[in-house]
Parts: sequence; structure tokens; C-alpha cells
Amino acid sequence: MLCLLLSHITLDHTSRITPVPPKRFYLGSVFLQGMFNKILIANRGEIAIRVMRACRELGISTVAVYSEADKNALFAKYADEAVFIGPAPSRQSYLRIDNIIKAALETGAQAIHPGYGFLSENTHFASACVENGIVFIGPPSSAIDAMGSKITARQTMKDAGVPIVPGIEEGITDPDIAAEIAERIGYPIILKPAAGGGGIGMKIVQSREELLPALISSQSVARSAFGDDTIYIEKYLTEPRHIEFQILADNHGKTIYVSDRECSIQRRHQKLIEESPSPVMTEELRERMGSIAVKAAKAIGYSSAGTVEFMYSRGDFYFLEMNTRLQVEHPITEMVTGVDLAKEQIMVAAGYPLGYDQCDMKINGWAIECRINAEDPLNDFAPCPGKIKRYRSPGGPGIRVDSGVYTGYVIPPYYDSLISKLVAHGKDRKEAIARMERALFEYIIVGVKTNLIFHKAVLRNKRFRSGDINTHFIKDENIVEAVKIVAVEDYEKGMSLASALGADNRQIAAISAAVGSYLSQNRAEEKS
Ligand code: ADP
Repeated sequence: MLCLLLSHITLDHTSRITPVPPKRFYLGSVFLQGMFNKILIANRGEIAIRVMRACRELGISTVAVYSEADKNALFAKYADEAVFIGPAPSRQSYLRIDNIIKAALETGAQAIHPGYGFLSENTHFASACVENGIVFIGPPSSAIDAMGSKITARQTMKDAGVPIVPGIEEGITDPDIAAEIAERIGYPIILKPAAGGGGIGMKIVQSREELLPALISSQSVARSAFGDDTIYIEKYLTEPRHIEFQILADNHGKTIYVSDRECSIQRRHQKLIEESPSPVMTEELRERMGSIAVKAAKAIGYSSAGTVEFMYSRGDFYFLEMNTRLQVEHPITEMVTGVDLAKEQIMVAAGYPLGYDQCDMKINGWAIECRINAEDPLNDFAPCPGKIKRYRSPGGPGIRVDSGVYTGYVIPPYYDSLISKLVAHGKDRKEAIARMERALFEYIIVGVKTNLIFHKAVLRNKRFRSGDINTHFIKDENIVEAVKIVAVEDYEKGMSLASALGADNRQIAAISAAVGSYLSQNRAEEKS
């Protein structure tokens, strides 16, 4: 099969893969004409558009699937075809495996890209694709399965010689046994749902007294969120960094690490700002952690793009989990390496070998991503869906905006509140930060509350600028208080600019909004 495949591709001078269509080759149970002709994207928002962009560059037609709430969404308009799959709630649309497979079969899509979230790590979905002769653009379902339960993943990694956070590899229900284990590991500990994700149901426990209520609460959250209340225990590392490695693997035995990413700026264990490389990274550490990431991927027979997450603390690092899909923060890796991860995923799924070797992976400069959400940083980051009345995204050197919104778009309340991923790339960290600050200044979003101001507050913080961060940064630095100060500063700047221009009230509001202030956005909303 390898020979058959190789006879249909040529290597150019830069060793990139150039497909030579349209000879036939055999992949699993599907006959393909060189590359796919049509791909269905089983997702929505910015990630659906991101994947469609890769398809367009590869000359592949795209099919979007959309719910009732996404009738007017940009991704549904961007696609060559769009198929309605059900009512707004995801359970009745984006999580309906039968409807999505039907849409693929009816439109003649040969492959499905699942994006992230929704069905991207669902083994039933991956298997259903294969059973229906459709290629799932992701790893084999056995690899998804191996990482699906955090307990199984820990055991597999332990067996493969990958360092894991001290803890246990079985579920606990009995509080006395839990107490014994906690005593052995040493407080503080963290209780985690085995089926967990998104930081849901995790509980930090400082002492024996806190253990029982924490266990009950963790179990009940896990039961309702994941339908599985298996809880396990890990040592709670007190000042860790979250550092992860992007990996790529093909079906011909090659696995490489692409770049490291620092994702320590989090709220409620959810990432808000990511950067690549990590400020603590050295060539030696990258090679050590990257090789372990490759080892982890190989241990489960991985292919496609994936991410191996680690906790890093005082020179030591431990496997946390592996995400068997494209991550939200993949663009920062693309910016510093020049690798188009979405395209590589598609090529690998079509049976092509990776277009790169490990020695091709060079880090060029620095990239930072801010997740721009419709949420209120001054009200515990509560989501703020609604109509975007004015929208203008930043541009200029080193700026990339991955988004799925436009002026007049209504952010639905049913899904996550991500408006865009704002990425700044510079020759070094200092330039990346300066560009990000400039881009945040240029960004205009009126009509919904956003966390633009939150990002400004983080970027102005001295500790952040020095690179001395860990997962407690937002709390320790009291960034929420800093947001209020930045809001007032920006508002005053906007006002003085407006009065210097002799603007009337309406213009004052608009100009203030242009400086992106939390307060002024509200003002602009009132006036318009
Ligand atoms: P999820 O899959 O629910 O997102 P993860 O296991 O990936 O959960 O952890 C998410 C975040 O929670 C990490 O980035 C880190 O901030 C925190 N965390 C998880 N496990 C630990 C631990 N053992 N010690 C300290 N912090 C942890």
C-alpha cells in the first residue's frame, strides 16, 4: 500500500508533498481520487471557517452543517454547500451523529473534519464515519478511546514510561480510601472526573475535612456533565505552568513535535491567553519534552494532529492529558513554524505522508493568542450573547484574526461565547506583546460585552511581561481589579480624543468604543 501511495505523490525541493491527482489509491475501505473532492465540517463558528480555508487552498469543496440558531452564521455562508441538521441545542444538531452522517452521504462528502469540541473526541462518531465509508479526519478511534478516560490514559502513559502527575489510576468512591490515598500523596490534592473536560468537576482539596464534601460535589457534577461519576485523585501542584506540545503523525510511522505552547493564563482552569514558545523553554527542554510527547502519541498508535499536555513545575514535567484533535490555540504554532496544521491533518487523512521531518521544525519568533469572548470579566466572566452592532477587526503586520462573526451577527446563547482568536506574531516576545496591544486597541466590537479589556489588563501586567506566570496568575495578580483601572484609563483617553476633535455625544461614544474600553462600549450601546 505504501508503494501505491508513494507513486501518486512527488517531493519538490523543499520536501513538501505535492499530490498528483487523479490516480486512484486505496485507503482503508475507501477509494479516493488522489485527494478528497469534498469534505463536510461537523462544527460551527471560527473553527469551521478555519478548516474550510484549508480545504479551499487544497481545492476541496466544503459542506457545512448548521443548526436553527446558525442559519445566518458566516461559516454556513462560507461553505460551498450547507445542510440544516436540527434545532439550536447541540444535542439535537451538532451532536446528532445520524444527521451528520446522513448529510455527508447525501452531499457525497468523502471525509468529515470534526473541528474541536462537539464530536471531535467521540469514538462512536469516528467509527460511524468509517462504517459508512467516510474518512474521519482525526486519529483512529482506538487512539481517541485510549485517551478518552483520564484514568486509562494515565495507566497507558505510565506503562509507556511517560512521567505522570503523582496520583492514582483507578476511580474512588469510598471517602475513607480516598483519605488514605490523599494522606499518602500529601495535601493539597485535586479530585478529577475520569471522563472530564473543560475543567468541569475538578475540586482542589487542602485537608481531610474538605475531602468528603468535595468528593460528593465532584461526583454529582461529573454525573450530570458526563454521565459518569468516576473520580480519581492527583497531587495538586501548587505553582505549575501548563505547557503543551503540538504533535503531527502520519499513517507511515512518522511522528514529530511541532512547537510547544504555554497556556498558563487561565480562568476556572480554562485557557484565555496562549503563547508559543513558552517563556521557560530552552532547546534542551523542548527536545526532552517533545520527545516524550512523541513517545506518548506512539504508545497509542496515533495519527493526525494532536496535543500532549503537561504540567511543568520547577524543572519537572508531568503528562496531564492528550487532546486527540486540533486545539483552539493551534494558530500560534502555525505562526511560529509556518506549518498549516489543518492542511496536514487533511493530507494525513487522505493517506499522504507528513510533509515535514523533525529537523524541519524551527521556531521563528513568538506568537500570542487572546481568546476574544462575549463575556463580562467584571461579572465572573458570565457569557454575554447578543447582537454585534459594530464590528471591525484589527490588521497590519503580524496580526491574524480567526473569527466567524460580522456586524449585525447575533451570537447565540446555545454554544461557547468565542468571538474570535486574535493572534499576534513578532520577531520576539516583546514585539508579539506590542503587536497584540496595538491590535487590542484597534479592535471594535459594539453591542455585546467582551473580554478585550481583560486581555489589555493582562498584557500591561509587569509579571506577565517578564514571563513569570503560572496557572494562578489571574487570581494572584488580581487581574479583575486591574480591568477596572484599564477601563477608566481607556475611557478617559477616548473622551479626550473626542473632545479634541470637537465631537458630539454620539461620536464621543463611538470614538470611546474605538479605544475598546469596557465602559465606553456600554456607553456606545446606550447612545446608538
Ligand atoms: P480538563 O480536561 O478538564 O481541561 P485538565 O486535566 O486538562 O482538565 O486540567 C486543566 C487545568 O487544570 C490545567 O491546565 C491546570 O491549570 C489545572 N490542573 C489540572 N490538574 C492539575 C494538578 N494536578 N495540579 C495543579 N493544577 C492542575
